[in-house]
Amino acid sequence: MAAKIISGTEVAAQIREELKKEVAELKEKHNVVPGLVTILVGQNPASVSYVTAKQKTSHELSFYSIQDNQPEDIMEEKLLQLIDTYNKDPKIHGILVQLPLPKHINEKKVLNAIDPDKDVDGFHPVNVGRLMIGGEEVRFLPCTPAGIQELIARSGYNTDGAEVVVVGRSNIVGKPIANILLQKAPNANSTVTIIHTRTKDMASHCKRADILIVAAGVPGLVKPEWIKPGACVIDVGVNRVGEKVSEKTGKKVPILKGDVDFDAAKEIAGAITPVPGGVGPMTIIMLMKNTVRAARIAAGLK
Ligand code: NAP
Repeated sequence: MAAKIISGTEVAAQIREELKKEVAELKEKHNVVPGLVTILVGQNPASVSYVTAKQKTSHELSFYSIQDNQPEDIMEEKLLQLIDTYNKDPKIHGILVQLPLPKHINEKKVLNAIDPDKDVDGFHPVNVGRLMIGGEEVRFLPCTPAGIQELIARSGYNTDGAEVVVVGRSNIVGKPIANILLQKAPNANSTVTIIHTRTKDMASHCKRADILIVAAGVPGLVKPEWIKPGACVIDVGVNRVGEKVSEKTGKKVPILKGDVDFDAAKEIAGAITPVPGGVGPMTIIMLMKNTVRAARIAAGLK
């Protein structure tokens, strides 16, 4: 039987509606409006499109939003001062610096300058540490892994005691999703294996997985015969494998493929995310969810 297709577009739309209600309630009952600033240095076209999408969603959710565009040649010191200003601004609950930054700026230094309580991307070492410790300590989950957890939970897969195999050990996807699903918490409690380029016999690990999460950036890396029948497959990979002309706009657009051979895998898996339209649409909405959480925490609410 063909797998259920897990649509990130649909789940993200559901979460957007939930957040709209929460934001309206926050305003009405507590006079709190979540505030998000997105800082863009330079005009890298991909970065411009990412921050535009983030701003669009924050406006849809009636956030207090600032799009702060800075020139490509901004001095590192000036950028750090700017972050300090937003750290102190009570109307701002979330600060996002769009990456990559120009080469003359130390990215790590800039990200570490963000107040961990406003670090809605969840990459500050304090928040990485909080996730590692778990329980009450956890504040902001990084957005892509948090989106993956939502997709699994909302597609009805039980993570409790499940064998989860994560392909990839990056700091932005592999390690945090492994940590999230390892938590002693709802929608977690899994037994997690992480695979990387030094892993011996990848296939045997993947074949055990009730939930297989693939974030390697290698098109078609996971073969259909490695998938356990009925497994939930989350394909995080986004690989440009060519170009095509869009039927809608007539313009050239990239052809995107995941790390899993989708057409063959969907005949074996129980559920699977497509690329595009799977994990991708979840990232921005989880950023918004983190911003609402930051606003609640700042207001002393649960
Ligand atoms: P990354 O930093 O390049 O990490 C890739 C990981 O995969 C590494 O740990 C690497 O192992 C492992 N790997 C690569 N080739 C492998 C192989 N042949 N066998 C086993 N392991 C292998 O990538 P990333 O930033 O995590 O991103 C992964 C993919 O997800 C990319 O396609 C990216 O575009 C996509 N992505 C999507 C979203 C989204 O949809 N919102 C967000 C983030 C990333 P080693 O550590 O041993 O090198």
